[in-house]
Amino acid sequence: MLVAVLIVILVLAFFRASITSWVLAMMVIVPVVAIQSRISDTALQAVYLALFLFIVLFGIPVLRRNVVSGTVLKIFRKILPQISATEQEAIDAGTVWWDGDLFSGHPDWNKLLAFPKCGLSAAEQAFLDNEVEQLCAMLDDWDITHKRADLPPEVWQFMKTKGFFGMIIPKRYGGLELSAQAHSAVVSKVASRSGTAAVTVMVPNSLGPAELLLHYGTDEQKEKYLHRLACGLEVPCFALTGPFAGSDAGAIPDCGEVCYGEFAGQRVLGIRLTWEKRYITLAPVATLLGLAFKLYDPERLLGGETDRGITLALIPTDLPGVQIGRRHFPLNSAFLNGPTQGKEVFVPMDCIIGGISRIGQGWRMLMECLAAGRSISLPASSIGGMKLAARTSGAYSRVRKQFKMPIGKFEGVEEPLARIGAYTYMIDAARQFTALAVDLGEKPSVISAIVKYHATERGRTVINDAMDVHGGKGICLGPENYLGRGYELAPVTITVEGANILTRSMIIFGQGAIRSHPYVLKEIAAAHDRNHQRALHQFDEALFGHISFALGNAARSLVFALSNGRGIPAPPGGETRRYYQQLTRFSASFALSADVAMAVLGGSLKRREKISARLGDVLSMLYLCSAALKRFEDDGRPAEDLPLLHWAMQDALYQAQQAFDGVIRNFPNAPARWMLSALTFPLGLRLSPPADYLGHQIATLMMQPGAARDRLTAGIYLPKVHDKTRHALSPHLNPLPPAGEEANESLREFYVYDEQDAVGALEAALASTLACEPLQAELEKARKVGQLRSLEELPRIAEARDLGIITAEQALLLERDYALRRKVIMVDDFAPEELRAGH
Ligand SMILES: Cc1cc2nc3c(=O)[nH]c(=O)nc-3n(C[C@H](O)[C@H](O)[C@H](O)COP(=O)(O)OP(=O)(O)OC[C@H]3O[C@@H](n4cnc5c(N)ncnc54)[C@H](O)[C@@H]3O)c2cc1C
Repeated sequence: MLVAVLIVILVLAFFRASITSWVLAMMVIVPVVAIQSRISDTALQAVYLALFLFIVLFGIPVLRRNVVSGTVLKIFRKILPQISATEQEAIDAGTVWWDGDLFSGHPDWNKLLAFPKCGLSAAEQAFLDNEVEQLCAMLDDWDITHKRADLPPEVWQFMKTKGFFGMIIPKRYGGLELSAQAHSAVVSKVASRSGTAAVTVMVPNSLGPAELLLHYGTDEQKEKYLHRLACGLEVPCFALTGPFAGSDAGAIPDCGEVCYGEFAGQRVLGIRLTWEKRYITLAPVATLLGLAFKLYDPERLLGGETDRGITLALIPTDLPGVQIGRRHFPLNSAFLNGPTQGKEVFVPMDCIIGGISRIGQGWRMLMECLAAGRSISLPASSIGGMKLAARTSGAYSRVRKQFKMPIGKFEGVEEPLARIGAYTYMIDAARQFTALAVDLGEKPSVISAIVKYHATERGRTVINDAMDVHGGKGICLGPENYLGRGYELAPVTITVEGANILTRSMIIFGQGAIRSHPYVLKEIAAAHDRNHQRALHQFDEALFGHISFALGNAARSLVFALSNGRGIPAPPGGETRRYYQQLTRFSASFALSADVAMAVLGGSLKRREKISARLGDVLSMLYLCSAALKRFEDDGRPAEDLPLLHWAMQDALYQAQQAFDGVIRNFPNAPARWMLSALTFPLGLRLSPPADYLGHQIATLMMQPGAARDRLTAGIYLPKVHDKTRHALSPHLNPLPPAGEEANESLREFYVYDEQDAVGALEAALASTLACEPLQAELEKARKVGQLRSLEELPRIAEARDLGIITAEQALLLERDYALRRKVIMVDDFAPEELRAGH
């Protein structure tokens, strides 16, 4: 009987039965159980009375609303944490997308797979193949970072005239109007060549005033500035951060006072501004400064309040009182970044972005634009570096030999190679999936925080791993080093657009719990509603929806954990089906844990950053896994990519499990801890990290040319030269770039990797190493039997040729192979005076 009752309850909870269904079920279950239990008459009467009260209170809507929901609403209003206006604006900003499904405990995988495939239009692809390719070919990062500490003038000019500063500006204003997907692809390709150039392109297309103007600008402002921004006649920057307001940017002390003043020879109503900002990218050369400040109207010249809140304005930097020009020196990068101050700078009211009606809305405007910008810039620049690290680390591991073996064949080196490959695969999937959200019109605030955090964290891990794989080659800076500057730049990506510790600890789950949860926002809205009857109706609906949701998640979490996800409906597909099932299981457990954390910890959850961070980690892993599965399907399920997918998925699911475990072990309330543990891991922690054999498969695919390696690193810049003669003479020496990479297929045959360039030489060396292996084996055989006596490699090749062991052409091949390997292995050295400061 007890088992039957438990099963009925479990089924009702599992299918998220409505409150009416629960009442009806109790009307049957309670009397049957009571009678079967043969309890005394008095006890029976008490049970019936309790049942009667339950039916009346929960079964009659008007009573339920006024008594049950009304009482809970009163308590809820008391415990609702105080949220500042700035925090509220941040919570309200942006939209909910796939994060809503992950919070639902029941993601709709068919919906995920039905999202359009990520891709570029023909015109966008042509821009990447031509203008972006040309820009990359112009970039010499050593010259930029070490010699000039700036981009060369011709690069600035090229960027401006070819529209790199106006990628997000519509064509009617002279911009390129690229999709988010294409914008991301451009930044990522440029970042694979030069971090300095990538940041310079990123800023005007991210928070730079263009995005703000497009969304909130008045028609006059759009007409006045967008044309000029699109073609680089104005160089923009956006200044929010100051010495006393970093992560807590809402606390900016910079202020503007409404007053009358002189402007262009006329007395007009305007704002007198004073600010001190720092870390502002492009500020040293900006002609148009986007400024965030607090507006005050002490004389009530605008009518209404004196304290008007955070407001955004566009300040021409040639106005009296504006100071710009000095530079910071961000970890040896040469992008222009510096402080700016303004002292009593007077601007007319029409400098406010969006005009007077947008006064006080600055924080929300920033948060909304950040949701889009953060979805693109840093994920794109990080993945550019990650792909370069993956491509070069794989090739270097094959070309570089120690102990007579390519270093990548040692198990110790396989380990970082596997991490580099799988992280790159997964983050690229997340980058594209998130750009797709922006193209679909979303402003995914929670997702943008997830992808920014994990792209930059994994980017840092990957560059660290790549440095280890390269040994001293990564450490000695100079033109032959393609990794060092990326390594230096990694902390910059971690810090900007929401520093990572804060993003993980406060934003991902903190904002997601309210924003992406299906009921919490509705409950909060009802609690703030001053119309009592409407509030009661809304709260009642949300509360009972929430209760059924939570019970459902508890039941599903337990059942799915017991079956280890088996039996959960999932899209077909042999290799991936189990992942969908495990994700659904974790989504249910995540939704349950989120509810328990909010119910038990209430407002104090805000201060429990370690719990919040770990819950954010679970949500993040669910998101990254969704993106990887979608990528695998969109790519046409290539079998060669399976090791990358398996490793990435198994690692992320394992990390999600460990994060859950961390939440449970550290949960400050014992009964809740036991309950969470029983419902989430009734059989213990059963997932393990990816197996070694997967790592071996990944290392192998990264160390040889092939479709999987090309897909993994697609879209980065690979230096090539236009050289028909060389190619025609020795086609086997230097393989063609992968098909489809050139805009014009007929031109493909004229391109070969540029062997003067460090990355080009490495690509050529990889192909050459593989091609020459049989010849090297011949030489080794001859050496062992004493036929060849020369100790050094080049004389030995000549000796082999003279003895007829190899042909003259084979000798040429081996000599070239030696030269390429030597170029790859060698690092730069300098005369002492060349490195002297100020040289
Ligand atoms: C190279 C560079 C370029 C930049 N470009 C621009 C720009 O163009 N425009 C602009 O306005 N700004 C820009 N910034 C500013 C950047 O956004 C800030 O640096 C960032 O917001 C962090 O502020 P902070 O450096 O003062 O660090 P702080 O706020 O002092 O933070 C220090 C550490 O404490 C952590 N922390 C802070 N609060 C919390 C919390 N509640 N919980 C957990 N951890 C917390 C942070 O995560 C961080 O790790 C740039 C910065 C750099 C370095």
